[in-house]
Amino acid sequence: MRIDAVELRVVALPMVAPFVAGHGSVDVRTSVVVHLVGPDGEGWGECAALPDPTYTAEFTDAALLVLRDHLAPRLLAAAADRSDGLAADELAAALDDVVGHPMAKAALELALLDAEGRAAGTPLARRLFPHPPGPAQAVPAGAVVGLAGSTDAVVAQVVDRVAQGYGRVKLKVAPGRDVGLVQAVRAAVGPEVVLVADANGAYRLDGEPGAPDDARLLADLDELGLACLEQPLAADDLLGHAELARRITTPICLDESLTTVADTEQALDMGACSVVCVKAPRYRSWLAAADVLDRCAGNGVAAWVGGMLDAGIGRHANVALAAHPGATVAGDIGDGRLTFTDDVTAPVEVGGGGVRVPDGPGIGVDVDPDALERLTVSTHTVRP
Ligand SMILES: [Mg+2]
Repeated sequence: MRIDAVELRVVALPMVAPFVAGHGSVDVRTSVVVHLVGPDGEGWGECAALPDPTYTAEFTDAALLVLRDHLAPRLLAAAADRSDGLAADELAAALDDVVGHPMAKAALELALLDAEGRAAGTPLARRLFPHPPGPAQAVPAGAVVGLAGSTDAVVAQVVDRVAQGYGRVKLKVAPGRDVGLVQAVRAAVGPEVVLVADANGAYRLDGEPGAPDDARLLADLDELGLACLEQPLAADDLLGHAELARRITTPICLDESLTTVADTEQALDMGACSVVCVKAPRYRSWLAAADVLDRCAGNGVAAWVGGMLDAGIGRHANVALAAHPGATVAGDIGDGRLTFTDDVTAPVEVGGGGVRVPDGPGIGVDVDPDALERLTVSTHTVRP
């Protein structure tokens, strides 16, 4: 794509209710929307970094800064160096000397992929899985229920989701809000609903002297018929996860720990996990995320696509990624209207327990200019 300008907009999405997890609470979802503009077309991306640096080091304000002052100028320079502009699969090399900031980088890549898809008439799902028989036409929905409110409030929300057709519900858990919570949910929804617990790294196993040891809680969670236990220990504790996997029978899924194709294969090889949560922004790249799904499919490893309280651009892109046949388990693909009261695109809609995969070019939906204007907090335009 030839690129004249990178427009960055910080948007503030009003939430239906605050979202609470082991890493803190999100009350207003700010994120950076990326808009690439060139002589041949446009492309849209969205940065998944959360408003606060409590989930990962990245956060909205820092993502804006690194996009505006470091990444967008490199993208523009690389595009100017080539007569036909910059391709999505050339982006990683162009940004390589900037350390870290995977979510900001993935936002630019998504915008390039969207632009290329719009220009070629190719849906993102097909770009991410170009092989026969092609991507799925619909993906199963999966709900994520946070820790806000009492156990009764969480149970009521899960019951609502099941009534809305969700066959898989992921519960956020944290030490002290775990075993009783999962038991109460299971009692309310019965044995058929697939339950996953996501700890966001909140537990400690055989920690430093004086630090809490959550081995008992983790053993109790193991008794509750969970489909998997997601990221129970700290992101950098692969050895701990491998040890825990030997102690419990519930499959361990890793999320925050997996940031590259190589460390995903290492985690699987050493037994730190048997299920992979794929988030393109965490892998810095939608193409890399598709590569992870290719490898999971090739090795018979269960994988699913995770979400990041995504607005419409990222959420539709997640649906496209989840259409990859390597995404064998229902992921965090939920109805956007359950999270936000307003959005920059038409919402991802769940019906009949699933979501239709966008078949239009690129991310498959248009950004609503009025909604974008309404939700924009600040606009920053970077030119060559
Ligand atoms: Mg997670």
